[in-house]
Amino acid sequence: MTASIIDGKAVAATLRSQVAEGVATFQAQTGRAPGLAVVLVGEDAASSVYVRSKGKATVAAGMISVEHRLPADAEQAALMALVAALNADPAIDGILVQLPLPSHMDAQAVISAIDPNKDVDGFHPANAGRLATGLPALVPCTPLGCLMLLRSVHPSLSGLDAVVVGRSNIVGKPMAQLLLGESCTVTIAHSRTRDLPARLRAADIVVAAVGIPQMIQGDWIKPGATVIDVGINRTAAGLVGDVDFAGAVEVAGAITPVPGGVGPMTIACLLRNTLEAACRRDGVAFPL
Ligand code: NDP
Repeated sequence: MTASIIDGKAVAATLRSQVAEGVATFQAQTGRAPGLAVVLVGEDAASSVYVRSKGKATVAAGMISVEHRLPADAEQAALMALVAALNADPAIDGILVQLPLPSHMDAQAVISAIDPNKDVDGFHPANAGRLATGLPALVPCTPLGCLMLLRSVHPSLSGLDAVVVGRSNIVGKPMAQLLLGESCTVTIAHSRTRDLPARLRAADIVVAAVGIPQMIQGDWIKPGATVIDVGINRTAAGLVGDVDFAGAVEVAGAITPVPGGVGPMTIACLLRNTLEAACRRDGVAFPL
């Protein structure tokens, strides 16, 4: 059996057009467009590419995109002052500080300084706590995108056994919370987990967010399982995921490719979160 390929580009394109429609309705109701501010500190090449594509996608969805750049040697106080100004700016609904920050900065302090209602990355402890307690929250974009891809295969996830490999605050932990919210039985695996292959062989759903190229082997996958590969690893052979795609595609029921799987969902979910934040701030119904 060969797995069906989950087309993240197509699911993301649908979400982006739904967001654009929602933005048009929001604008008709409120007389303004939602605004997203992206802050980039330093000159990191990959981060610059991400920030540019986020800006383009924001404008394409009909929203206002504002970009702030600070030099790599900027003081933490300058970044905190910028965040405070964006928190107070009525035209800004979403604030995203591009990570990683230069090593002299305290990323957690910066994240915690963002108004939780404008925290479209969903990294603020208030949003993490809201997600964990089942309250409405701004949810981190990558795991939210993974959940949408899973729902495209499984209209109901209830009762399925899910293993999330990776326990970062950005991907693994919020992914596990979302799957728990869908009534999956969730295992979170990490670098100290014993016998990962055996745990994966019992999983209906595998979400790989490790950062090790092609670590998860095809014969670790339960036949028919759904595999979501979050990994983005640049190797001599090009961009690869955390799953050995060639092996896993022969065993799984459905699998995301890298690239073209989870990646396109992240920006689409950022746009979605910005519209959601704007709707909440202006007290209008969120259409998605
Ligand atoms: P982190 O480095 O923060 O976390 C990696 C996790 O993997 C850790 O919890 C670590 O465990 C675990 N791990 C490491 N080695 C092993 C192992 N041998 N067996 C099991 N678990 C292991 O990474 P992120 O969560 O930020 O990102 C994960 C991947 O997803 C990366 O490839 C990243 O590039 C990609 N990514 C992709 C995005 C997208 O848009 N598609 C967005 C964000 C990330 P421990 O905690 O014990 O150290």
